[in-house]
Amino acid sequence: MSLRRSSGDHWVMDRGDFGALRAARAQLVSYGVRLLDDGLAVGSAGNLSVRVGDIVAITPSGAGYRDMRPGDICLVTLAGTPAADDTGRLDDGGPSSETPMHLAVYAATGAAAVVHTHSPEVIALSASRPELPAIHYAITALGGPVRVAPYVRFGSAALAAAAAGALDGRTAVILRNHGALSYGRDLAEAYDRALLLEWLARTYRLALSYGEPATLSAAELAEVTAEMRRRRYGERRGGS
Ligand code: 13P
Ligand code: ZN
Repeated sequence: MSLRRSSGDHWVMDRGDFGALRAARAQLVSYGVRLLDDGLAVGSAGNLSVRVGDIVAITPSGAGYRDMRPGDICLVTLAGTPAADDTGRLDDGGPSSETPMHLAVYAATGAAAVVHTHSPEVIALSASRPELPAIHYAITALGGPVRVAPYVRFGSAALAAAAAGALDGRTAVILRNHGALSYGRDLAEAYDRALLLEWLARTYRLALSYGEPATLSAAELAEVTAEMRRRRYGERRGGS
């Protein structure tokens, strides 16, 4: 994957990238609909992106997922510059307001896809807890207890920095009074983690109804991670 600077001030891609980008755009459209169907967002809330080499394909700002078409997906460079698509035109719809947050995650991690949700269980938790504790071992898929990053206005550089910072050693972060972000080696993995995070938050809320729940220690989580590695969980896809 490589980019060349065109005669203008934007970037164009080599031919080989077009197929992967076309597939990424179609995948982003279908996962946008899933975001609504799974209750992880309403309307045009949340946003999704996939990295294809030097290019990030990202959902447009303020657009409803049910009406979205692959051609509506915006393309930006890792520096946030608009990138020309395979027809050579620049995208005229603006990329997500959270593009800086997605780019900060790509810069800080090995992510190939990022999912930002406004999922209700996670938001409810974020308003009253500093983190999602380990009440189930499946949280190892997210790297351990998930931090709640401080509240900062949506779309701000400060939110991008807060989210990337709170991701340290994790594959997901909760954004206080806002939502969540998860990443993965592909969009399916990033999305599975968003679903897992919401499920864990709901399970924690149920557990709280019995009193203060027991949590797993760092040693117990490390033991789970070691056993999952031994069994090569996560290398087989389609489950979590
Ligand atoms: P966009 O529609 O600009 O992607 O914003 C939605 C959102 O979730 C802001 O945090
Ligand atoms: Zn948001």
